[in-house]
Amino acid sequence: MARTASEVVSLVGTLGQVLKSEKRSCATHGDYTDHLTGLGKARSAAWHGCNRCNAANRAEDTRREQQRLIRDNLRRSIEGRVGRSCIPRRFSDRSLAGFCVDGEGQASALRICTDYAENFLAHARMGRSLMLLGTVGTGKTHLATAIGNHVIRRLGMTALYLTASSAFRHVKASFGSDSPHTEVQAYALFESPDLLILDEVGVQNVTEFERTVMFEMINSRYEAMKPTIVISNRGKDELPTYMGDRVVDRLRENGGKLVLFTWESQRGKEDV
Ligand SMILES: [Zn+2]
Repeated sequence: MARTASEVVSLVGTLGQVLKSEKRSCATHGDYTDHLTGLGKARSAAWHGCNRCNAANRAEDTRREQQRLIRDNLRRSIEGRVGRSCIPRRFSDRSLAGFCVDGEGQASALRICTDYAENFLAHARMGRSLMLLGTVGTGKTHLATAIGNHVIRRLGMTALYLTASSAFRHVKASFGSDSPHTEVQAYALFESPDLLILDEVGVQNVTEFERTVMFEMINSRYEAMKPTIVISNRGKDELPTYMGDRVVDRLRENGGKLVLFTWESQRGKEDV
């Protein structure tokens, strides 16, 4: 039986009042009785439609809303971890896929770093560290922060990026009587993340104090079986001078890998 549009618009009932009932058929759920129901004096009455379709739609809405909440929480949690990682803005979206390969050396470095990122859980369980050594502008920080980004975004773990000089400053800042943190807290910061990336090691001659900081930092992570990525412009043989022999030993233990960046600087060609 056909209804005219004017009939639908004109019918008004009190809330929940059934004004009319009709046999209908739902393409999915078959025959059902539909009710034209009042929605109060201010609105026209409306047909319910298929109850089972309505219930399915409500369930779908709930499912979507839940997924949206989970996605939002995940995004906020990732953003929080990215924010706390101190990875410089310039490197915050660096990826392994975005590393420019131009020769066997770069291909090999990328392979090792990709393996380190993709098997991070296994490497972390062994406390296996990584040393990226070589001249300025060869992409060491790019690859290290790409691993950090992978650890944060894909694995939901934590990473912290620090230059050696900022690590030294952070410990020194704990010495004053009105310092914002204690020395213990300073070292706890270095030990807490799942991955620590220590950049610019050996840019200047180190003092005995700095060598001690370096040892405490790397050793506490070593004892907690937590990996560290060390980045330096110094060569393999010079590194012990700037970090101390014991630190380099710690980094090499449990199969810690050393990657040499021997190709010429890519600065100017791309932003490395
Ligand atoms: Zn239906």
